[in-house]
Amino acid sequence: MSKLVIVGTVAFDAIETPFGKTDKILGGAATFIGLAASQFNVDASVVSIVGGDFPKEYLDLLSDRNIDISGVEIVKEGKTFYWSGKYHNDMNTRDTLATELNVLADFNPVVPEDYKNAKVVMLGNLHPNVQMSVLEQMKEKPELVILDTMNFWMDCALEELKAVINKVDVITINDEEARQLTGEYSLVVAARKIHKMGPKYVVIKKGEHGALLFYKDNVFFAPALPLEEVFDPTGAGDTFAGGFAGYLAKTEDLSFENMKKAVIYGSTLASFCVEKFGTERMTGLDTREVHHRLQQFKNLTQFDIELA
Ligand code: AMP
Repeated sequence: MSKLVIVGTVAFDAIETPFGKTDKILGGAATFIGLAASQFNVDASVVSIVGGDFPKEYLDLLSDRNIDISGVEIVKEGKTFYWSGKYHNDMNTRDTLATELNVLADFNPVVPEDYKNAKVVMLGNLHPNVQMSVLEQMKEKPELVILDTMNFWMDCALEELKAVINKVDVITINDEEARQLTGEYSLVVAARKIHKMGPKYVVIKKGEHGALLFYKDNVFFAPALPLEEVFDPTGAGDTFAGGFAGYLAKTEDLSFENMKKAVIYGSTLASFCVEKFGTERMTGLDTREVHHRLQQFKNLTQFDIELA
């Protein structure tokens, strides 16, 4: 098993979907990534920042799952990063209503000493300079660096983002963001362009339509499990990334074949995340449920066909 470093936001989110509305609840990319990765019992550390307004119980949710939180800085007099979003009726698209960086505006991440030799690094969604700083602190070159990002950073820090994209092995972004990053409508052409920017592996998430993994001339597709209830898609992308990174850290096999399995694990965990508001579903999830759903996934996608 490899050590895993996760950097990303730990946040307050306020969410509105066609099914309801929340006040400030626990959110943040690193929170969702950490919860998903914890399914694999990996030795993971979250590097982030919160304000004095952040409840200790929220951090306990991570440490109770054996995630090291010594790299989460608490700025007593500061306010925690806050994000608010409203989903459209199709639940695949959303508007950001507010992004308040607060303590994130002056965040200098510090990777805990014990994790500076981690073999897997998951750069969750936040300012590309922060992502780069984490990479620069690693003592040895990690075997696998995965990057997740979003349109917000393409709009306000594109050059810095391109610099960090150039240093990673895998990028996970959604279809809209892949199009924005490359100016290409076709996701195949977009993936090819992103390969040229650095990452050997390109994962394009398509919400309820699954995810594509591109590697050289190979493409692998994992559908999303058709669900009866989608309550709140917030964090699905991060949960996918956390499942993907956690599985690879656990198995230490970085072949394309194993990456396919990592995509399946990521999709399976994301399918739980959307069933309740915020982190609620992920904090109550047990291994039996995950295995049951993996079996459903297999049944959904396996078929025998005779090619005469
Ligand atoms: P996802 O639905 O996977 O795109 O991730 C949603 C999570 O990302 C929420 O919990 C937010 O707190 C967090 N988030 C939203 N905007 C940003 C941003 N600009 N930078 C970092 N994290 C963000």
